[in-house]
Amino acid sequence: MIAISAECLYTPLEQVAQPLLLVEDGRIAEVSSRAGRDVPRGARLVDFGDAVLAPGFVDIHIHGGAGHDVMEAGAGGLPAIEQLLAAHGVTSYFPTTVTAPIDQTLSALDSLANAIEKTEAEETVNERRAQPIGIHLEGPFLSHARRGVHPPEDLLPPTLAMFERFWQAARGRIRLMTIAPELEGANDVIEEATRRGVCVSLGHSDADLNAARSGVAAGARQPTNECKGMRPLHRREPGIIGAMLTDSRLTADIIADGIHLDPTIIELFLKAKGADASVLITDATAATGMPDGRYRLGSMDVEVKNGKCLAGGKLAGSVLTMDRAVRNVMRFAHWDLQQALRPATLNPAQVAGLSHRGRLEAGSMADIVVLNRNGEVRNTIVRGAVSEAVGRH
Ligand SMILES: [Zn+2]
Repeated sequence: MIAISAECLYTPLEQVAQPLLLVEDGRIAEVSSRAGRDVPRGARLVDFGDAVLAPGFVDIHIHGGAGHDVMEAGAGGLPAIEQLLAAHGVTSYFPTTVTAPIDQTLSALDSLANAIEKTEAEETVNERRAQPIGIHLEGPFLSHARRGVHPPEDLLPPTLAMFERFWQAARGRIRLMTIAPELEGANDVIEEATRRGVCVSLGHSDADLNAARSGVAAGARQPTNECKGMRPLHRREPGIIGAMLTDSRLTADIIADGIHLDPTIIELFLKAKGADASVLITDATAATGMPDGRYRLGSMDVEVKNGKCLAGGKLAGSVLTMDRAVRNVMRFAHWDLQQALRPATLNPAQVAGLSHRGRLEAGSMADIVVLNRNGEVRNTIVRGAVSEAVGRH
């Protein structure tokens, strides 16, 4: 058993001063305070001093990092991506595909499913790697009018037969799917995906308010990439953004890099949806954690300059890391650290139906990020793995 202490812990809904967090077999056994409990006999105490403990970040929309894309042949870049993610506080993530030729998508889904299955089968974990726990299928069921950089020749009309092919290739590991609800056949696919436990997100869509509402009626719960890849909020045609801002069942996905959305728009969405219905995503590409240059995004080339990822002059993902997104929320919306943590932890876990992630409570995975008061990452603990050298004084 490992006993972890620090100055403060956010569950994230509650704050515990002088916490004592007990970890056994990769799971949290108990969350209490040092005042109320002694360190159990035989437990190894790891004290992080004046640090803050929070749930490890959950990124449900990420394409790559450290020079690698998740769709690379054989998913060979995942270890490098996962090390980068862990260095920025992320403990679990959904590798996210982009629209590509069908065969490339099918083989990427197969490789990603392999990686997820391998992770699940591992008894001991590499402490410095985030874990892939589901796939986000972004495309090909997207709108030509709002495709962004997704290659037009590879977009497909949504059909149950095509969804089934993706599902089989991924062996049921698709946990999130982005789709344009106005496309013919989309609502049938949304209903079927929802029935199978997939969280359906509306995005790269030209939907008007009616089409957005019928997508929600079919089961969709979350718009992808707020304002990017959708109809702008118009006073007489509010579209998906109007639906998102007014429907309490919908959460808002926010790329808080200050490039995709102006900081004031980020503040507006955070205020409108509140700390319980905002979800931070990075939409990070292979260029994340790398110098400016040319990188791959699925089958596309992207050019990165001064932190902006462009393909054919259009924004193509980001170089954002989740810890910076949390700090930006503190800066742009003047939220405190505890509030800013929720959209990076509990909320994405809830949206994606992950019951043992994104929270520090008995029974949950011992996925923990150790932060300072400014939200900078000091350490990341994946499934309770803390090396002997850490936390000694
Ligand atoms: Zn994306």
